[in-house]
Amino acid sequence: MTNRLIERVSHAGGRPIPDAATGEIIGHTREDSAAALEAMISRGVAAQRSWAALSPHARGMTLHAAAAKVAEYAEELADAVSREQGKPLNGPGARLEVEACQRWLHTNADLELAPEVLVDDAENYSELIYRPVGLVGAIGPWNWPLMIMIWQIAPALKIGNAVIVKPSEYTPLSVQALVSVLNEVLPDGVLQVVVGGPEVGAALPAHPAFGKIMFTGSTRTGKAIIKASAQNVTRLTLELGGNDAGIVLPGTDVRKHAENLFWGAFINTGQTCAALKRLYVHESQYDETVAALAEIANATPMGRGVDEESLLGPLQNRMQFAVVERLVEDAKARGRRIVTGGDPAPELGPNFFRATIVADAEDGDPLVDEEQFGPVLPVIRYADLEDAIARANRLDAALGASVWSDDAQRAREVALRLEAGTVWINKHGGIHPLVPFGGIKGSGYGLEFGFEGLKATGVPVVITSR
Ligand code: NAD
Repeated sequence: MTNRLIERVSHAGGRPIPDAATGEIIGHTREDSAAALEAMISRGVAAQRSWAALSPHARGMTLHAAAAKVAEYAEELADAVSREQGKPLNGPGARLEVEACQRWLHTNADLELAPEVLVDDAENYSELIYRPVGLVGAIGPWNWPLMIMIWQIAPALKIGNAVIVKPSEYTPLSVQALVSVLNEVLPDGVLQVVVGGPEVGAALPAHPAFGKIMFTGSTRTGKAIIKASAQNVTRLTLELGGNDAGIVLPGTDVRKHAENLFWGAFINTGQTCAALKRLYVHESQYDETVAALAEIANATPMGRGVDEESLLGPLQNRMQFAVVERLVEDAKARGRRIVTGGDPAPELGPNFFRATIVADAEDGDPLVDEEQFGPVLPVIRYADLEDAIARANRLDAALGASVWSDDAQRAREVALRLEAGTVWINKHGGIHPLVPFGGIKGSGYGLEFGFEGLKATGVPVVITSR
């Protein structure tokens, strides 16, 4: 089918963008100059004043209308992200991503930040309020390009900011399509998209016009943004890379949890920040867990995202394909056991890699210590729970973690000791627009979602009297 949104944003003579599964060109993207960014900044700064002057309720009504627009174009948006990013339409895929965009817009539309009265006595009346920062720069990755952009856009707009988004160079068309849909109802200049590569991204934190940079992407780029932002003391929210551990406690009914374990790791074909990336299983249940995961991997259809039966798709790009291939080849060279998968699937297309379960993996293996960001799960055997907790906590990445057990009390005790921004019990990666999300240690700082996320897109100001 031709996608009218891709046609709408495609730029004749621009940079060709391939279908992640087939390599066919799906459209061409414009790329913006430094002068174009300056013009957007002036436009955004001017538009923000009248947007901030509206009541929070009025801004909320506009965000509800924007969500309704996303619903109207849902199939075209899902098709665009499925082609460009590669994720299947079905399962936890492109349609879910577009639904999440609506959900995050609606939820933020209804959030109202009342002044917080801190002290109210004879000598002191103090309240804390949140004002917009002005202009927000939102820099996004290629794995969940629409949903992650909405996580940044929805609260930033709700509190009264103007936003300039910078999509990943790998997924510029679907984000431009989303912005064009939102702009059918948003006032002019409040939401704009600047298109380009890392150098365009780097221009945002270095520019004094931005009061806040919201960044989701790799830890390496996050560190560069911290440096660049120092000059202007720009506020930052950094959602960086993860290498989430899961621990299966002894005595757990692993067959019951196998589907959740599998999708915790293989959601979006493993290209998810808070996916299960290393699984520690007690020796008493090790073989059973590995076998259950391999069975599901073998039974889960992989193919083009736009084929309705696919539940796993390709890697989005050659760079990520090379990372996955290198880590799996290294695991083989170390004699680790490839229970299923372990190879590319060229008959499906150039970027496909089979769903892979690697048993007898060890801490220190690059597949365990580095973020694979692909359809490969290393499973590590443990004998002593204390040792498993220490191994789960030993890396700098600390976005999410999970504990798997049918004993709720024991699961909670272990959860309290895991170093990660979110610890899930008997699931991995589930998110909710009212539940704050963010990493600790090398996975970044600042929270998104809910009231905490809304506050983070503004500046706190104290008004004090008496
Ligand atoms: P990336 O860091 O390579 O790129 C992300 C964005 O930053 C792109 O738009 C890119 O153009 C831009 N960029 C590159 N260099 C820049 C610079 N110097 N200054 C400013 N911007 C710059 O990340 P990616 O490969 O697109 O995304 C995958 C990574 O993102 C993984 O590590 C994944 O775990 C992480 N991620 C984290 C979350 C989270 O919520 N914590 C969510 C999704 C992805």
